[in-house]
Amino acid sequence: MAVTAHETEQKEQTCAPAACETCSSSSCSATDQQQGETQQQFEERRLLTSRLCRIKHKIVVLSGKGGVGKSTVAVNLAMALHLAGKKVGLLDVDIHGPSIPTMLGLEGRQVMEGDGELQPVDLDGMKVISLGFFLKDQDEAVIWRGPMKTGVITQFIRDVAWGDLDYLIVDSPPGTGDEPLSVCQTLEGADGAVIVTTPQKIAAVDVRKSISFCRQMNLPVLGVIENMNGFVCPKCGELTSVFQSGGGRLMADDMGVPFLGSVPIDPQIAEAGDSGVAFLQRYADSQTAAIIQGLIKPLLML
Ligand code: ADP
Repeated sequence: MAVTAHETEQKEQTCAPAACETCSSSSCSATDQQQGETQQQFEERRLLTSRLCRIKHKIVVLSGKGGVGKSTVAVNLAMALHLAGKKVGLLDVDIHGPSIPTMLGLEGRQVMEGDGELQPVDLDGMKVISLGFFLKDQDEAVIWRGPMKTGVITQFIRDVAWGDLDYLIVDSPPGTGDEPLSVCQTLEGADGAVIVTTPQKIAAVDVRKSISFCRQMNLPVLGVIENMNGFVCPKCGELTSVFQSGGGRLMADDMGVPFLGSVPIDPQIAEAGDSGVAFLQRYADSQTAAIIQGLIKPLLML
């Protein structure tokens, strides 16, 4: 099923009301209609709140710019949590580069709709939603105005039957503009953000912006991951420094946020991503897989 921008707008207007059955808390902000709120706005807010209420931990993966491996990290964090036995959802709202269907071999999979809900694509028990599932062809450029983009982000959280999850990992659009802003606003009460960067000094500027963005949004920074730090030789496994290293750790220390770790450039990561098999499944016994498994330790303690 392909949802056009027009349909997305229409759906915004016709979203079916649903009772909040998640809990009986009388202090929940979704219990009462707010002043100035229409009945439809109230029902949509209540539906969003009841969806979010059933997700224990919501983690946004951010980066200052594209191409640093944000989606790769998001996929692998989600997969690592899934392999650790957690109930995981993975939401790809990187509107201009929805690469997660390709990375997980889910291209062409259909998102079913019923009872006003979108059913996420199931990958061995992990629930996945990506704008990529709704594009007619992979090369289609998404040229939407701001309200359409924010509409689709809200829809993917509010109108998807996520059910009960331990973790929802959200692959946000890069930068600090309207789109990541909308992700963070919609995911009210999220545990925090994981910020992905590369080791060059110049990348630190973007990360500082991402950290300051999180602070303005009152979104805790769970930590910084430095991706592509050194190159793992496919023949001997030796790690060679490529860029000036250590920038991510220094910057994290300087900004007073946790440093979660470094992931090397590993040709097997790129190969797994291109061939549509999760790296952690295909190369489960590799050194890089062990590094990625280590990155989720602080997330398991949330
Ligand atoms: P972003 O989401 O930041 O735009 P992607 O996750 O799509 O970046 O990664 C861009 C490309 O880099 C992809 O082809 C991916 O496979 C590759 N890549 C990302 N991280 C690594 C890594 N650590 N080692 C090798 N290739 C990587």
